[in-house]
Amino acid sequence: MTGGMPAYHFDRALLSSGWTRDVRVDVADGAIARVTPNAPRDGAQHVAGFAIPGMPNLHCHTFQRGMAGLAEKRGPAHDSFWTWREVMYRFLGKLTPDDVEAIAAFAYMQMLERGFTAVGEFHYLHHDIDGRPYADIGEMAARIAAAANGTGIGLTLLPALYIHGGFGGVAPNEGQKRFLNDPDRYAALVARSREIVKALPDARVGIASSYSTSTMLFTQKTCRSAG
Ligand SMILES: [Zn+2]
Repeated sequence: MTGGMPAYHFDRALLSSGWTRDVRVDVADGAIARVTPNAPRDGAQHVAGFAIPGMPNLHCHTFQRGMAGLAEKRGPAHDSFWTWREVMYRFLGKLTPDDVEAIAAFAYMQMLERGFTAVGEFHYLHHDIDGRPYADIGEMAARIAAAANGTGIGLTLLPALYIHGGFGGVAPNEGQKRFLNDPDRYAALVARSREIVKALPDARVGIASSYSTSTMLFTQKTCRSAG
């Protein structure tokens, strides 16, 4: 290191110009300040092998980190994705906002440790345990944002519009009551989510929906009209 600023020297790194040898990366305030190709090592910490830029995790439901290990076992012959979902419903039937924030922070920390620097959070656990919205429609969204802010991961928050219980317009079941919104409440949730992420240095809001293309088209229309 020189001048008190951490610096790393990579044998090979993937830059926008392609694979490059002897790449020096200087860090300031926890962020990359300078990237110098074909640089001498000059006191920088040597990192052998190949380096690539931070990766985005494009599809995350972060609360599921808390149920890892509960469903990954072979069940009876009729075991399927749908039986996996039953385990998930039982698990999230107990989760509080504090739980969700703690699990999200843990998951985001682990992602950062493994090289994921941004996350697309498909967020569908919106409401209280009895299915009623929290006083703040964006309570859970705020917890996700707090976890991202606390760990420093880049966040694309994707509130999911959940109307159906499965493909083909199936009615929702009891286990899905914490996910459900009608279009108006969904528009309010998206608007609130946009307010919430404003405080974060690297965050944005998108939209998502479950189980139906027509719902997705509708969602886009709702959000366009909500600005
Ligand atoms: Zn998913």
